[in-house]
This record gives sequence, structure tokens and C-alpha cells, in this order.
Amino acid sequence: MNLRHVERCPGCRYLRNGLPNKAPCPECGEPAPPDEWLILFGWSSEANEWRNLAVIGCVMLATALGLYSTAYLARTAMPAFPGTVVLVAGGVTIARSLLWSKRTHEGGDIVWIIRPDGVELRTPLLTRQWTYLDIEQVLFEYGWRRGSVHLCLLQATVGQAKEATIWLNERDVDARAVHQLLRDRLAAARAAESHRTQPAALNPRASPPPGPS
Ligand SMILES: [Zn+2]
Repeated sequence: MNLRHVERCPGCRYLRNGLPNKAPCPECGEPAPPDEWLILFGWSSEANEWRNLAVIGCVMLATALGLYSTAYLARTAMPAFPGTVVLVAGGVTIARSLLWSKRTHEGGDIVWIIRPDGVELRTPLLTRQWTYLDIEQVLFEYGWRRGSVHLCLLQATVGQAKEATIWLNERDVDARAVHQLLRDRLAAARAAESHRTQPAALNPRASPPPGPS
């Protein structure tokens, strides 16, 4: 059962292989993750969209080239302006796809940190945290791409069903085991909570004697 993914820094994805266990990350200073943490890197979407993005960027660059050639052949500056716009947009698109591809090769654009007391989700935009009591259930399903698995946390607040999803590559991590671990932690947290509230329920306050009616 392989629960531990490639050992990367959850802050900057620096490969921690070979670093002393307790050493902070030399790149970003993030403290060494404790042994009880299970850190999962995954994707916010199942599709490897950086390739599509790269194709779109190339089409934009080709279009810009076409517009510039038209302007040159027609000896007019008219199509040159849209050509520049498309050129810049194409460049930005290709830069984004390269960044995305880099993240893909570093394990994905989302990090899940499964701690003994809860779960933390880090995306490029935000960080969210739940205790196990905040979580209603954890869903598991196979994706359409070979080896991809969808794990999803459902938040407990009814009527406000917030989902936190992660696409995992089954080849890197035993997603079934992760799912089981999360379910076990949920069950343990609920059992502890009901144990905590039980004594009060077992000793109900004596009801006042019935008064004269
Ligand atoms: Zn780091």
C-alpha cells in the first residue's frame, strides 16, 4: 500500500529527497512536514489541458503571422494592429501552458494535506481547511482517463454542499487506501464527538414536579 507520494515540499514543490527529515525547505523555508501528514499532489481537473492551451497558443501565433503577411503584401498597416494583439495573446497563452505543464510534472496544481486533525487544500489561489467533523463524506470514482481517480470531500453543512475535489494519478498513490483512510478518520472523529456529548444525554435533568394545574 503506497500512501506516500513523491516527497515534495507542499509550499514550492521542491524535491525533498535526500534532505534531513526535520530540515525546512531550502527553497521557500516551509517547515519539514511532520511524519503524520499525508501530502497528496493532484489536479483540479482530469484533462491535461495544458496541451490544448499550447495548441491554441500556436494557432494564435500562426494567425498573427498571417495578419502581418497580409499587411506586408497589401502594403498597409491595417491588419498589423490586430496582428500585434493576437501575437501578444498567443505569447501569453503559450507561457501559461508551459507553466501549467511544469505544474503537471511536479505532481499537479492542487495539494491536499491529510493531517490527523483535519484536511488542508491548497490551490494556486487559496488555502482551505476542514476538521473531520466539517466533512460529510468522501466520494471516490474512477475517471475516464486510464489510472485517474476522483476524490471529493463533501462539506457537512447541509444546503451548502461545498465540494473539494482532487484528481489523483493511481499509479503514484493508492487512491483506494487514501479514500479508506479519510473514511476511517471521519468515522473516528464522529465516534469521539458522540462520546464527548453522550454523558450529558445519559443524565437528563430531572423534570420539575408537576405543578398544580
Ligand atoms: Zn519549499
